[in-house]
Amino acid sequence: MKNIIFLAPPNGGKGTLSEMLVSKYGYGHISTGDLLRDEINAGTKLGKEVEGIMKSGKLVTDDIILKLIANRITKPDCENGYILDGFPRTKVQAEKYDELLESMGRDLGVVIYIKIEKEAALQRSISRITCPKCKRIYNKVSSEMKPKVEWICDDCGSELIQRADDQEETFIKRFDEYMEKTMPLFDYYQSKGVLKTINSHTSKYDTFDEAVKVLEEN
Ligand code: AMP
Repeated sequence: MKNIIFLAPPNGGKGTLSEMLVSKYGYGHISTGDLLRDEINAGTKLGKEVEGIMKSGKLVTDDIILKLIANRITKPDCENGYILDGFPRTKVQAEKYDELLESMGRDLGVVIYIKIEKEAALQRSISRITCPKCKRIYNKVSSEMKPKVEWICDDCGSELIQRADDQEETFIKRFDEYMEKTMPLFDYYQSKGVLKTINSHTSKYDTFDEAVKVLEEN
C-alpha cells in the first residue's frame, strides 16, 4: 500500500476522504490539525503555544510540525501505509519530510491534489461541524453528511462542535496561507512525477471513487 499525501485547500475534503479510505483500506490516518487540536484540548504547553496561531488561520511553525510527524509515522498503525492529511504544508516541511523518509528507507508514495473552487470550500467551512472525540466530520446542510440527530455524533454519541477556525473571516486567511505557502508544493511534487489530480464533487462518494481509481492504477 502506497502512502498518500493529500494536497488540498482548507475544506477541500481531505479529512472526509481520509476517513473513507481508512475504512476501505485500513491506512493509518495522520491529521496534523487533529494532533494539534488534541494538544489544545489537553491543555499542554504545546497546545497553549499553537492555539492563537490556529484561531488566526496562520500556519504553525515547521519545527513543531516536523517533530509531531517524525514521532507519529513510527507508530504501529502506520507500518502498512498511512495518509498524511494536512502535511506537508510548506516547502520546508516537504524537503525535511523527504530527508526523514530517506533516513528511514521509506518511499514517498502518491500525492493526491484535490481540486476545488474557493467558493465551494468556503460554503463547506461555514457549515462543517466535527466530533471533538472521534474526529468524524459532518456538514449541517448536506443531506449525505448530516448527523442522524442534530449536533450528536452518529458514531460515539458526543456533542458536535464547530471548529474555532471554521468562520468566514478565518477561512479567507487560511485560504490565503494555502495559496502562498502550500500551493508551491504542486510543482514540487509534479516535478517528482508523483502528483495525481482528482476533483472534489458535491457528493463525497464521487470524490471517493476518483481517489480509489487513482490508488488502484498506481
Ligand atoms: P487542518 O485541520 O488541516 O485544517 O489544520 C488546522 C490548522 O492547524 C491549520 O490552519 C494550521 O494552523 C495548523 N496546521 C495543521 N497542519 C499544519 C502543518 N502541516 N503546518 C503548519 N500548520 C498546520
